[in-house]
Amino acid sequence: MSTLRFAALQAANGHRPENIHIAVPEERPATFFAQNVFTRERMQEYIADNILNQLFDAIDNGKPLSRDIANSVAIGMKKWATERGATHFTHWFQPLTGGTAEKHDAFIDKTPDGRVLEEFSGNVLYQQEPDASSFPNGGIRNTFEARGYSAWDPSSPAFIVGDTLCIPTIFVAYTGEALDYKTPLIRSVSALSKAAVEVCRLFDRNVSKVNVFLGWEQEYFLVDEALYQARPDLVLTGRTLMGHDSAKNQQLEDHYFGAIPERVLKFMTDLEIESLKLGVPVKTRHNEVAPNQFELAPVYEEVNLSSDHNLLVMSIMERVARRHHFRVLLHEKPFAGVNGSGKHCNWSMGTNTGVNLLAPGKNPYANLQFITFLVNILMAVHKHNGLLKASISSATNAHRLGANEAPPAIISVFLGKQITDVLDKLEKASADEGIVINAKKEMKLGVANIPEILLDNTDRNRTSPFAFTGNRFEFRAVGSSANCGGAMLALNAAVADQLITFKRDVDKLIEAGEPKERALFAVIKKNISACKAIRFDGNGYSDAWKDEARKRGLDCETSVPLIFDRYLAPDSVAIFKNTSVLTEAELQSRCEVKWETYAKKIQIESRVLGDLVMNHIVPVANRYQSILLDNIVKEKVAFGDEQYQRLASHEILIVKRIINHVDEIVQKVDDMTAARHTANRIESMRERAIAYHDNIVPLMDEIRAHADELEMIVDDEMWTLPKYRELLFTH
Ligand code: ADP
Ligand code: MG
Repeated sequence: MSTLRFAALQAANGHRPENIHIAVPEERPATFFAQNVFTRERMQEYIADNILNQLFDAIDNGKPLSRDIANSVAIGMKKWATERGATHFTHWFQPLTGGTAEKHDAFIDKTPDGRVLEEFSGNVLYQQEPDASSFPNGGIRNTFEARGYSAWDPSSPAFIVGDTLCIPTIFVAYTGEALDYKTPLIRSVSALSKAAVEVCRLFDRNVSKVNVFLGWEQEYFLVDEALYQARPDLVLTGRTLMGHDSAKNQQLEDHYFGAIPERVLKFMTDLEIESLKLGVPVKTRHNEVAPNQFELAPVYEEVNLSSDHNLLVMSIMERVARRHHFRVLLHEKPFAGVNGSGKHCNWSMGTNTGVNLLAPGKNPYANLQFITFLVNILMAVHKHNGLLKASISSATNAHRLGANEAPPAIISVFLGKQITDVLDKLEKASADEGIVINAKKEMKLGVANIPEILLDNTDRNRTSPFAFTGNRFEFRAVGSSANCGGAMLALNAAVADQLITFKRDVDKLIEAGEPKERALFAVIKKNISACKAIRFDGNGYSDAWKDEARKRGLDCETSVPLIFDRYLAPDSVAIFKNTSVLTEAELQSRCEVKWETYAKKIQIESRVLGDLVMNHIVPVANRYQSILLDNIVKEKVAFGDEQYQRLASHEILIVKRIINHVDEIVQKVDDMTAARHTANRIESMRERAIAYHDNIVPLMDEIRAHADELEMIVDDEMWTLPKYRELLFTH
C-alpha cells in the first residue's frame, strides 16, 4: 500500500480510547457550571454595589455604560480573572469572515520610565483597536475611515479560556458602521423587541419587554487526525474534493440509532465539561444520520448570548478534538453522497410576563395573540423568503441546500396539520364567526380550538427549511459552519418590520371605530390569505415542489452569488433601514465581503483540486497503467499475436479507460486554470463570484467525477489518499 496512506491508517488504529485520559470532575455539573465565566454572582462579589445597578441596567436594557462605570467593572473583572490565573486578555469579536477573532494583550503595560505595571483600565475594557485593516469590510473603511474598534458588549459575560480573559465585543468602524455579525444582531433584537411589545400591549398592558430566544443544534463530523492529515483537501478546504462513495455509507441508517462509539463518547464528555465550565448549557448529544456525524445542542438562551455560545462551542470543539486525535469538520458538506451538516436554529419570542409568544395559550386572548404572532411571522417569511435564503447562503452551504438530503434552496414554512386547519378556518370565517363577543363582553375565538399541546407533533416534516415545532420555529437551512447571527438578524428584522406594519393596520381600523378584537381579526384574516404561498407541508425534496414553488412566486434562485443580490433588493434595504439594523452602505459592504469570500473559497478549492489530481491521482493512474501495459506486452511475447488479444482484453479495456479519464482530467485542469485567471482579472467582486460559480464550479465537478472513476479502477494498494470508507468508519 502507498506508504502515506498505510502510515495514516496505522496511526489511526493506534488512537484507542483507552489511551486517552480526560479529567472528569468528581462534582456534579451544577458545581462547575460557568466556573470560568464572570457571572452576575461573581460581579456581585467583585464589583461595588453602587456600580452594579448601572451595570445590570446595561446588561438587561442595553443602557450605555459610562467610562467611570467601565473603570470600576474593569478593576473587578481583572481581579477575578487574575485570581483564576489569567495573564492576558482579549477582545473577542465576530468579523464577517465567520468564526471569531482575538487579539491578546498581557495585563501589563510599560511606564515611560521603563517599569512594568499591571494595567487593565476601563478604557481597554470599553474599547480597543485591533489591527483591523486585515479584516474584511467590503470597502467601508476604505471609503470612510481607515480604522475600526471593538467595544465591550456587557450583555454577554466575559470568560476565561486557558490563561486569557475573553471579552465579547462588537466590532465597528470609527464612523459607526458594523464590521461584524454581533452589532446588527443586537440592533435586530432591540427592533424586534420594541415592535413585539407594541403588539403585545394590544393584549396585555403589563408587557414591557420581549426577549428573543435561540436554541441551536450543531451538527459536525469527526475524522481521525492521522487520516485527516493525509487528505490535503480536508486540511486546506475542510471538505473532501474527491472520493468515491463507500460501498456502505448511510443506507441502513444504522448509525443514527446506533450507540455512540466509545472514543467519540469520550470526546463528547470532554467537550461537554469544557462547555459547561464556560457557562454553555449543553444538553443533548447524539449520532446523526451519516457515519461519523454527530450533534450537540444546548438549552435555548437569549439569542445574542446563545449565538456567542455557539461560536464558543465551535472553537472548544476544535480544541478538544485534538486531545482525542480527532479533527472536527464543521463544513456543511465534507463528504459527497452522505448527509451534510446543518445548524438548526430554534427561534422564539417571550415576554417579561413569562409568555412564550409562539405557544398556543390557555384562553382566547392568549390564543389570538399566538395566532397574531404566528401569522406575522408567516407574512415576514413570505415577503422576505429570498432575503432569508441569502442569509443562510454561502459557498459551503450551497453543497447542502438543494441536495437530496437537506432543506431545498427554496424557503417555505411547515406548519403541520393542526395549525394549518386553524388558519384555513380563520381565513374562511366571517368577522362574526371569527370573533364572538358574548353578553358579558367576553371574547371567544369562534372558529377553532387550538390544541394546547402541540409539542411533539408527530408529523414533523424533516424536509422543510423553516418549520413550526409546537412552541418555536426551527430555521433548519442554516449551515453548520455559519455564525447564527447572520440568519437571526435577517429573521428578526423581517419580523420586526412586519409587526410594525401589522400594528399600524390594526390601529387604523381601531381609529375608524372597529372594536380592537375585530380589527385584529380583520388584519389577521387578510394576512393569512396574503402569505398562503409560503406554507408548504409536502416533500421539499421533490422536483414537483420546485415547479410548484416557482408558480407560487417563491424565490427559486440557486446561484449563491445571485442569491446575495437579495440583500440589496429595495424591500430588503427598506426593512433593514426601518428597523435600524443595517444601513444601505452596511448592506453593500456585507455583500462585497460575501462575494469576495465566495470567490476566494472556490478559488482555493479549485487550486487544491488541481494540485491533488495532478500530483496524486494522475501519477498513480499512470503508474498503474504502465504495469498493465507491461503485462500486455509480456502476454504478447508469451502467447503470440493470435492469443494475446483475447487474453489481455480486460487489461486493454482498463488501460483505455485510464487513458480516457487522465486525458479528460488534464484537459479540464488546464481549462479550469484558464477560467480562474480570467475570473481573477474581473474587478467587480459580484461579477467575479458569478464567474467562479458559472465557469469554475462545473469544471471542478467534472474533474472530480473522473478522479472518482479512477479510484474505482486503480489498484487500491497504490492509492495514496485515504478513502471514504476509511475516513467515515474509523473511530
Ligand atoms: P429536536 O427534536 O429538534 O432535536 P430538541 O429537544 O433537541 O429538539 O431541541 C432543539 C433545541 O430547541 C434545543 O436547543 C432547545 O433548547 C430548543 N428549544 C426548545 N424550546 C425552545 C423555545 N421555546 N425557543 C427556542 N428554542 C427552543
Ligand atoms: Mg431539531
